Amino acid sequence: MDVLEQINRKPMPEDTPRPEGVKNWRYAPGDIAQLWLDCPDTGTNVISEAVLRELDQMLDQIKGEQPRALVIRSAKSGGFAAGADIDGFAGLRGDRAVEMLEQGHAVLDKLAALHFTTIAVVHGATLGGGLELALACDHRIGVEGVKVGFPEIQLGLHPGLGGTFRLTGLIDPVAAMQMMLTGSSAHDRKARKLGILDALVPERHVEAAIGAAAAGKLDHDSGGLRASAMRTRAARSLASTRMRSESEKKAPNQNYPAPYALINLWEDHGGDAKEMQKAEIASFAELLESATAQNLIRVFFLRRKLKSDGKGDDGITHVHVIGAGAMGAEIAAWSAMQGKRVTLEDVALEPLGKAVKRAAGIYDKKHLSDIEARDALDRMMPDPDGLGRARADLIIEAAPEKLELKEKIYASLVDVMKPGAILASNTSSLRLAGLVGAVPDPGRFGGLHFFNPVSQMPLVEIVSHEQSETRTLDRLAAFAAGIDRLPARVTDYPGFLVNRILGPYLMEAMVMLEEGKDKAEIDRAALAFGMPMGPVTLADQVGLDICLEVSRSLRENLERPMADTPDWLEKMVNDGKTGRKSGEGLYNYDKGEEPPKAPADDPSETIIDRLILPMCDAGVECLRKGVAQDVDTIDAAVIFGTGWAPFRGGPMHYAKVRRDVERRLTALAAEHGDRFKPDAGWSSFG
Ligand code: NAD
Repeated sequence: MDVLEQINRKPMPEDTPRPEGVKNWRYAPGDIAQLWLDCPDTGTNVISEAVLRELDQMLDQIKGEQPRALVIRSAKSGGFAAGADIDGFAGLRGDRAVEMLEQGHAVLDKLAALHFTTIAVVHGATLGGGLELALACDHRIGVEGVKVGFPEIQLGLHPGLGGTFRLTGLIDPVAAMQMMLTGSSAHDRKARKLGILDALVPERHVEAAIGAAAAGKLDHDSGGLRASAMRTRAARSLASTRMRSESEKKAPNQNYPAPYALINLWEDHGGDAKEMQKAEIASFAELLESATAQNLIRVFFLRRKLKSDGKGDDGITHVHVIGAGAMGAEIAAWSAMQGKRVTLEDVALEPLGKAVKRAAGIYDKKHLSDIEARDALDRMMPDPDGLGRARADLIIEAAPEKLELKEKIYASLVDVMKPGAILASNTSSLRLAGLVGAVPDPGRFGGLHFFNPVSQMPLVEIVSHEQSETRTLDRLAAFAAGIDRLPARVTDYPGFLVNRILGPYLMEAMVMLEEGKDKAEIDRAALAFGMPMGPVTLADQVGLDICLEVSRSLRENLERPMADTPDWLEKMVNDGKTGRKSGEGLYNYDKGEEPPKAPADDPSETIIDRLILPMCDAGVECLRKGVAQDVDTIDAAVIFGTGWAPFRGGPMHYAKVRRDVERRLTALAAEHGDRFKPDAGWSSFG
């Protein structure tokens, strides 16, 4: 189980029955009646149509029983509910969507209108529809470690089961809007401070807190002064203007309509819960039909598909990492956080010390409690003598990108590794075919290509080569999924899948700089397309030395013409101007120069096409060469490995929707050179 979810919970009494005809709930009647959400055949509750229908039925029954109080809680150890059932509404459109939303609202309204006290006890993940259910209760008692939030915005939506008017009605409406607009969640004390929770208690005090709530001794804080001030339209308009301009910086309206729909909703109806409820339903149904929401919902399913590709037992409890640099340190810290025993080896002592510090920083950012962080650090052992080599089930080599060095390390593992153990390389530009000759057991060797920084980039490429055994690849995929990363299975190809596709984006930007184009104009055009970072900024971020290496490797190993790297780039690298890490690259950070963050208002379509279409083309090439199994894997890998404009659904999906990519590439080739010539695979792509 995810360490973040290891919440010490008192389980539901085992004999709590499911009422007849009810699948998702268990019920214990009494003076204080207890209704436990327990969706069958899954470890995580989601709020589905069936959950709400059965709740409706249960509420009718409980109403007749007239208890003093009703407690709603979850039987799952991981959390209260992870959100709405996305499978249930993904295909919904038009009137049917409105009808289903209205039914859901009616059930939560019924809960909210009960004459006895209703109390939600929430623990762990309490998100989206789960939080909306809790908000319809009179009180919310949080168990320490609880995390509440509305992540709908990440799907191109806003809350749709009453969250918009209930949260803005409960707490400071500006803080409520902030939460919904950013999709960020509030962890236990923050949620209490905001007033979403009326109490925050350790598990052992839950019963006492329920008793206090049932006895009417638990108050909740109102939204305070700000709530009353925001009852006027003028005040809301002022705040809305600010919110719009903040949102515009992060997510332009034309790409992400949901934040603006939410702001309009609140500005127009914030003073009137009934009107806001009606408008929420209409707005949600409309957003559901937008290309953005449809693409983001697809990305949600792509994530799940990658995850399920890593099903099964990895048989890995101990991981040994060789090389404690930028990558090795993060791989070790992340694996330890996810429960693996980790030994970390390096030829130098300094990186080992730094790695421990870095791990502590990651655990802090990920909100681990002091005890969880201590346990994770205990699991991560600096191992300068390489004692872990003989004990590990998996050795991950993350040493510098030099063939001879890696070969030497592999040779030193012969007769040292435990029988059955796997060796994996994190190399990003060397072909496995060139490394495999030096490894102790080719069948138990594969690529495990993490992205930088590991704690933020969810993708891991599982790279096969001609001699890798299926079981090895399955175990590597299961390992990646088990440490909460997303495995994408790819074959041994120059740049593998993601860097093969990303390479042209960076290389074309260098060509444009060589032509004299303004770097900020290039970056701002890419931002306008929806890329998380312009290519010039990205090159500085990745490091110009690494970019040079990647482009050299692609140029040497691919069968097609690629852009030349300008001489000045090599000179910059030789002069130590390698990007953000050195203080100067294409932008001069030491002199206070910062890359642009705002997208261009009127970007050049040619710049966008020159940057983006070669990525689509590289994707088609990878498909034709069997580097990835299908378009879904390509889209998912590029989105989760690079942050590629997710609302466009990935480069393959974009090419399918746009339809003229092959033609446009031909035109670009005529104007700018053969590197744009469309791949042969376009003829069977459609
Ligand atoms: P790095 O230079 O930051 O770290 C390498 C570490 O290995 C250093 O601490 C060095 O002291 C240590 N080392 C050198 N020789 C060693 C040996 N014989 N035994 C043990 N340790 C040794 O490099 P990095 O950026 O972490 O890259 C490591 C690998 O990960 C490379 O193969 C690289 O291609 C790959 N990779 C890098 C990135 C990235 O963005 N940096 C992304 C994905 C993959």
